[in-house]
Formats: sequence, C-alpha cells, structure tokens
Amino acid sequence: MGSLDIPKKQRAAVKQGSGHDAKAPVQEVDVQMPGPDQILVKINWTGLCASDKSLIHDEWAAFGVAMKDETKGIAGHEGAGVVVAVGENMRHKWKNGDRAGIKWVWSTCGECEFCLNGVDELHCPKQINAGFTTQGTFSQYCVSDGRYTTRIPEGVSDEEAGPIMCGGVTAYVACKRSAVKPGQWIVLPGAGGGLGHFAVQYAKAMGMRIIAIDGGAEKGELCKKLGAEEYIDFTSTKDIAAEVTRITTYGAHGVLVTAATAEAYASAPNLLRPGGTVVAVGLPKDPSVIAGAPPILLCLKRLNVVGSVTGTLKDVEEALSFTARGLVHPILTKGTLDDVDKYCELMIAGKLPGRAVLKQCFAKPAFALMDLHTSPDPQADPRVPLDSPTADVSASERRNARPEKDNDGDQSASTLHSPQAGSSDEAPTQGSIPDTVNGVRSEQVVGTDEKPRGQLEQYPDNLVDFDGVDDKDNPKNFSTARKWAITTSMGLMTFVVTFASTVFSVAVEPVAEEYNISRTTATLGVSLFLLGFVFGPLIFGPASEAYGRRTP
Ligand SMILES: [Zn+2]
Ligand SMILES: [Zn+2]
Repeated sequence: MGSLDIPKKQRAAVKQGSGHDAKAPVQEVDVQMPGPDQILVKINWTGLCASDKSLIHDEWAAFGVAMKDETKGIAGHEGAGVVVAVGENMRHKWKNGDRAGIKWVWSTCGECEFCLNGVDELHCPKQINAGFTTQGTFSQYCVSDGRYTTRIPEGVSDEEAGPIMCGGVTAYVACKRSAVKPGQWIVLPGAGGGLGHFAVQYAKAMGMRIIAIDGGAEKGELCKKLGAEEYIDFTSTKDIAAEVTRITTYGAHGVLVTAATAEAYASAPNLLRPGGTVVAVGLPKDPSVIAGAPPILLCLKRLNVVGSVTGTLKDVEEALSFTARGLVHPILTKGTLDDVDKYCELMIAGKLPGRAVLKQCFAKPAFALMDLHTSPDPQADPRVPLDSPTADVSASERRNARPEKDNDGDQSASTLHSPQAGSSDEAPTQGSIPDTVNGVRSEQVVGTDEKPRGQLEQYPDNLVDFDGVDDKDNPKNFSTARKWAITTSMGLMTFVVTFASTVFSVAVEPVAEEYNISRTTATLGVSLFLLGFVFGPLIFGPASEAYGRRTP
C-alpha cells in the first residue's frame, strides 16, 4: 500500500429500522480492505436510484427481495470514484488513481452459461449486487470486484458517471432492445422523466426519430431541447394513439414503457405499427399486467414485447462513451451522503428533479490511519498517494476536459429506474418534475471541484461554486473588454474617492474667506464627505449581501 493513507473508519449511510419508517443516517463504519481479486474505490459521487429507496424501505419484502446481511445496511449501486487500493491479482488491470464505477451487478461468476455467452452475464445466477447482496456505494470507500468494475472514460465527470451506472445504461439498453433503426420512430412516454430524459438523448444519438410524451409545455420544451422531434402533451391530447398515427402514418416502430403503471403498458401496443416493439422497463406493482393489450392486437399486428433490465459491463462502457462524446448528459440533483433520507422522501413524493447524486463528505477529521502492514493488498503503484488531492484532481481535470456542448447538456429531469420489482417511482407521465426543474439547471448544490474543501465539506449546502469550466458568470470567462471595463471603472472609482476628499481640503481656507464663514464650518465640506465614506459601507456592504449587487 506504500504511502497511501486509507482510514480505518469511514462515513456511510446505514439502514436503520425496517419498512416504511426505515432511515439511513450517516454512521461511522469500518473500511473494508480489498481481497486478491478486488479493488478499493474511494467514492466521489454516488447516484441514488429508486431501487435504493425501495431496498432501504423494504418495499420488495413481499417478493422476497430485501437487503442481505452482507450489505451491513449500506445500499447504493451507482458509484463513481478513484481506485485507492488494488488486490494482488488485479494489478495487471488496475492501479491507484484509475477512475472506477460500481454498478448494480457488482460481480458475476464468469463460468456459467450466461457469463460465457458474451452478452448476457446479467443473468448469472451467482451474481452479486451492490447494495443488495454486498455493501453498496453509500460510503466513502467501497470494495469492488476488479474483474467487473467499470472504467470511467475521460470526458465523463464522476457525478455524471454515477447515474449512468444504472439509470443511464437502463435507458440506453432499452433503446437498443427496441430494435428501432436510424430514421424510424420511437415513442417515449414520460420523456421528461429521470429515465425518459436519458432515453431521449440516447435515442437521438442513435439516429431514431423521437415522439416524446409528457405533461405540460415546459416538459415539451425540455424534450425538444434534448432531441425529440415531436411532443405530445398528454394533458391536452385526448387520443394519443391517433396523434402518433397522424405523425407516423402507420404507428411507431418502438415504444419504451418506463412508467411503472398498468395504464402505460395498456396503451403502448396501440401506438405501434405492425411489427413494432414494446420494451418493458417500468415495474408496476400490479404483477398481473403484462403489456395489457388484447392478444388479438398483438397477433394481428405481429407485435414484439421485450423486457429490458440495466446493462452488461459492455453496455455500461458504451453508455458512458455517449457522455464522453458530449451526446448525453443527465440532469442532476446534487446532495451529500447525509441527504439519503431527504431525497428518498422527495422521491416518494415524486418531487425529486432529475437523477439524484450524493457527494461523499469527508467532514469527519482525523481518522485513525490503518497500519499499512496489516493491509491485505500492498499497493501496486505508490506514486499516487491516496487521499491526497492528486487522485481527485486527476478526476477533476479529466472532467474539466469534457466536451460540454452547452448548458442544455446538464438538463433534464425526473423519475428513477429500478432494476427490481415493484418500484413506484416510474410515473413520469403523472408529471413528477417540479416546475422549477424545467429551467436550464436543476442542481441544488452546484459544485464541480472534487478537491477536499476542509471546513466547507461539513456544510456542503453552503458551498456555492461555478457551474463547470464554461460558466459565463466565472470572471475568468469574461471577455477581455469586460475585464478591462471593470478594472478601469474600479480604478476610476478609487481615484474619484480620494481625489474628491483631498481636493477640497486645500480649499478650506479660501472658501471660509469667500463666504465669510468660520474655518470649522468650511471644513464640513471634507468632514461630511468622510462621514459618508465611513458609514456608507456599513449600509451598502450588508445590503449588497442581502439583496445582491445587480439591478432587479
Ligand atoms: Zn438502479
Ligand atoms: Zn455466471
């Protein structure tokens, strides 16, 4: 492990209680060290998926799906960060400082039929799932199977990589499963939602023609901005199927059902042309509904109904590549590890904009350093010190290199995906994006700098930062002319202030004579000015903080 400082203890959001009232407050837990085939990832950002919400609250207990003891109560399966320790068998593949992503499928056996067929390891019966059958990413450090960990490419920031590990790849794979070819029509109900806004961008990048369905004009604006060719507002359109037929003549080639509602499944087949494909993604609580269309419709139109769930290691790699190339950017609601409960509540209320990502807070100081000799994994590359800004900075720099097309990329909205049964989150057609989200950015905590920030880390909500390297409000990005104008006016202001106070002082004597007043009275010309100079800042200083410095 060389010079690397890996603490013995870490902060993690740990599930407490069970059922609806369960919480996941931050606690101090042991840092687990990687085994020979594993790596240790220092998590920078982790997505909060609807599945995490469901697992923490035992929503799937009736299906026999509940967090196993091995998780130690730590959920999370959308982690992104840097490698800080490498098991001895993984050194040919990973080194410290490498960027790594942890996803729902945490590990597979590598030997069964599904692992060996090259395309379907998601169905490995021996798979291990992050936050379900092993410790998840709601912690500062997370052990990961070195064989199955995703490498995050350059040009993708950690906060964007996190949600792509599950939500993004789910939308991407669903688009692929639709088998809609470039130039053909795909219908995306709930297109302004957490999965939908991903799907619009992927479908667009894949050359499909998109009919977005959602509620309200603002969602429409958002969908069109993200790449939809047509928008159907379900709040004002009576017959959506007729509208789709009007646009496409014979119906669409594919429809992605991301909404977890029986209605969404019931209506989907009606939007399709003969030979079209329904892709089932959303997971309604009603287990009896399977594309609720009459069989005669499926038969006569020779429709396909296919299911889709997350993605393979290769799928995730492809999904990330779209972001690296500047084609797909999630809308993010940013918080910290302490916000798990708060965001779960918002999610349940359908009020969480975009995909939620949580920054790992390194607030608690002075963890006891682990005795490096006891570590099971001697460090492969001691040149990158752990916990030093170096590793983080490299991630940060790579992010800064990301090809941001414009602010649009960071937008969009709402519901969340879940790879398991019975999620209630997928109801974007119910209008789950608050109005405030439809603006350009939906971030609640804006910050792109990964470097430790000392005290500020304890109060990340107070941290105000620039919106990436291209933020036009960053003085470094001002035009040269504007910089000179500001510099000049500041210089002139100082000149005027000092000039005005001193120029009169030499004239006190002549003024007293000219107007036949006492010298004391004549001095008022200077002293009144200076009084304003003294008391003005007492008022204008706080006022500028309270009301801002710009004209309303
Ligand atoms: Zn997920
Ligand atoms: Zn297997």
